[in-house]
Amino acid sequence: MSVSKLAASIAESPTLRLNEEAAKLRERGEAVIHLGAGEPKNKAPISALLSATARLSSGDIKYTPTDGIPSLKKAIVRYTEENYDRIVHPDNVLVAQGAKQALFSLLYTLINPQDEVIIFAPYWVSYPEMVRMVYGVPVIVTPSDGSFVPSMDDLKEAVSSYTKLIIVNSPNNPSGAIYPEGFIAELVEFCEKKGIYLVMDDIYHKLVFEGKKSPIAYKHTTKDVESTKVITINGISKLYGMTGFRIGWIVASKQIISVMTNVQGQISTCTSVLLQAAAEGALNGLQSAVETLRLTLENNRRVMVQELQSFSGIKLIPPDGTYYCLPDFRAYNTKSVELSNFLLKKALVVTVPGKEFGMEGHLRLSYATTVKDVKQGVERIKWALDPNSPNEIYIGERKMVRDWL
Ligand code: PMP
Repeated sequence: MSVSKLAASIAESPTLRLNEEAAKLRERGEAVIHLGAGEPKNKAPISALLSATARLSSGDIKYTPTDGIPSLKKAIVRYTEENYDRIVHPDNVLVAQGAKQALFSLLYTLINPQDEVIIFAPYWVSYPEMVRMVYGVPVIVTPSDGSFVPSMDDLKEAVSSYTKLIIVNSPNNPSGAIYPEGFIAELVEFCEKKGIYLVMDDIYHKLVFEGKKSPIAYKHTTKDVESTKVITINGISKLYGMTGFRIGWIVASKQIISVMTNVQGQISTCTSVLLQAAAEGALNGLQSAVETLRLTLENNRRVMVQELQSFSGIKLIPPDGTYYCLPDFRAYNTKSVELSNFLLKKALVVTVPGKEFGMEGHLRLSYATTVKDVKQGVERIKWALDPNSPNEIYIGERKMVRDWL
């Protein structure tokens, strides 16, 4: 087999790999607790299901316009106005197969070989790989103060004449951090002055806790959507817990959207009309589904924070939003891949190594599960690592005795 050098260099998605591993262990009857998941346990909103069912029953399942069905684009235009206070035209919107494909098509559209893309650590695992897939160069900026929030000084040190684009994800996967309003305001001003695109991956923007809000970049520019450097990516995956429907979208200038439409047209023609109908149903239906999900996550997050705060040696910056937190486990092991493998083997708990997100020594723990799993999961991790915890534990039906500390 002779695959391309580029394809051979692309890493497997660690989160997808862990999902598969957990599924295999479960199939074997093992009592695995999955704290690695990037999706909640909820059911899709009824309005989404009814809308997709009606479309399916019509039997009229054909290609759609590449950029999305007009009625879904209309719902996205309304969403943008309601949530971002921005009036945009349907020609500013492209529907894609998840936020993931929207971002990839955007990078394909904007990046020339050797252009640099700034990514703030900790970062979503796919950003650097996607940048490399379009022959761009990912430039990672790690907050110098040990926090999860970068500063303008950190950024300015990394910017060069090759910088084409900056990706921001707030609330952030994997840390759960919300970037401060002042930072986003400065970033928008900086990008517009320098002619650098600022891509806001807002996929978690409504899943925020304790009354906090994630900044809206559009609010910090007086330019309209045609001339601003701000581009927004969003979708139904996280907000409505509709990950399997694979619908996301992007809002950008008409010029960018029209090139992206050509790109997407050659690759996938369009996203499935059935799933677009589901997304339309979700966006146009009762929005209580989002608040219900947010409240569940807020409660799970409270339990997770409580459990971790009583875990000596762990340092935690409590998350402001998303499904995740990123505690620092360096007191136990500085190598997160080794630690994550150890926890899976000994305690049957799935975690995601911080190394994958550019934060070695940390583990990403997801609370997009049940309170019971959050509690038991952290209890098992404590048992595996902390010599002060009881040395016997039940994992499923089996009594386990710790003999390695
Ligand atoms: N951005 C971030 C930060 C994510 O965490 C994810 C999903 N894990 C995505 C984008 C992709 O979302 P989608 O399912 O819409 O492709």
